[in-house]
Amino acid sequence: MYDYLIVGGGFAGCVIAERIASQLGKKVLIIDRRNHIAGNAHDYYDNNGILIHKYGPHIFHTSSKKVWDYLSNFTEWIPYEHTVMAVVNGKKVPVPFNLNSIEQVFPKKIASKYQALLLEKYGYGLKIPILKLLENKQEDLKVIADFIYQNIFYGYTLKQWGLKPEELDFSVTSRVPVFISHDNRYFQDTYQGIPEKGYTELFNKLIKNKNIEVLLNTDYKINSSSIKFNKLIYTGPIDEYFDYKFGKLPYRSLHFDFKTFKKEWFQEVAQVNYPNDFDYTRITEFKHFHRQKTKATTVAFEFPQEFELGKNEPYYPIQNVSNNDLYNRYKKESEKLKNTIFVGRLAEYKYYNMDQIVGVALMKFDKEIAK
Ligand code: FAD
Ligand code: UDP
Repeated sequence: MYDYLIVGGGFAGCVIAERIASQLGKKVLIIDRRNHIAGNAHDYYDNNGILIHKYGPHIFHTSSKKVWDYLSNFTEWIPYEHTVMAVVNGKKVPVPFNLNSIEQVFPKKIASKYQALLLEKYGYGLKIPILKLLENKQEDLKVIADFIYQNIFYGYTLKQWGLKPEELDFSVTSRVPVFISHDNRYFQDTYQGIPEKGYTELFNKLIKNKNIEVLLNTDYKINSSSIKFNKLIYTGPIDEYFDYKFGKLPYRSLHFDFKTFKKEWFQEVAQVNYPNDFDYTRITEFKHFHRQKTKATTVAFEFPQEFELGKNEPYYPIQNVSNNDLYNRYKKESEKLKNTIFVGRLAEYKYYNMDQIVGVALMKFDKEIAK
């Protein structure tokens, strides 16, 4: 008999398991239907000895000291600050689109004019969501806003979501604002890094406790009746838990095409985005994260796809008004259940980053489990 059954061995499930096992001394069983732990943060070494992020580039960044300190109990960090370039008219420009990007895409005089206008209107260091920038009435600001919208956001968003930026929740494109700055980093958080020995190793440390057992290749829907437990922590898709009784929540999926090249480097930064060309959105070259010295290099081309049950994985909740409304119906239903906690990107239908889900998991433990 387990005190807790935890469905899902990603950040949400494993952080809560660690807390319950270490702080309450209770018995936990984690099940995951995949053949590995770490959820979408899972990484592994390929045949060339390159550490691959199986589900796309995962860069840890947070401004929460609490989250950083907590995870630092289980890993050392390689300092790493993500830089991303987007190909615009054949040139690679920094993303988030910033004052340096302007210099790359416009002749000097025009670039200076746009830089001065943006600095005057917003001031150095400000971040403006593209949909906000587009609201400008001033003619020149409208021109630069339209340029950025068309060349950075429109094509990428259409590929990534099958929707235009304005058809998604404002928060989605706001993740990558226009940045009135010469800072080329993708994130400005206080703490940034990659686990020194990789994410999977971090997870191995998290769950190394005599009170935690793990069963892989084990689906909750198929196996729950044969497991004896008191309380449930569920981190899978919330619509699936309720057998889709209000309808399916839409998710976006991806296909990763991994290719190895017999050369030292493929591209100058870990991530290059292609908003305007090709069917893929971005190419990730994994060696950059750990600055590995190998003769070959492995990259992933990322092709967005519709999520189809049983065919591919539900990677992204698609945040817009109607989908969020549908989620809220499931949430209400979940609140009626005793001894069951829903937590995680899929269970809460939220576009969480890793640090956010660690923060939420720690908070749920404090407020709802340890209380
Ligand atoms: P998951 O990691 O999805 O874990 C849920 C687990 O539950 C899965 O392993 C699944 O197999 C299991 N499960 C589901 N249903 C069942 C069931 N019925 N039975 C058994 N097991 C089940 N975040 C960042 O901070 N930085 C990044 O750079 C970043 N890049 C990303 C890139 C991509 C392409 C994606 C998709 C996500 C990225 N993220 C990034 C987000 C990050 O992956 C998530 O925040 C984090 O993994 C969420 O953890 P979780 O535990 O909620 O969910
Ligand atoms: N985005 C874009 N062009 C870019 C980068 C991002 O249009 O070059 C938009 C796009 O809608 C994307 C969203 O901003 O889905 C969030 O980007 P982020 O890099 O945070 O996506 P993730 O890494 O989570 O896939």
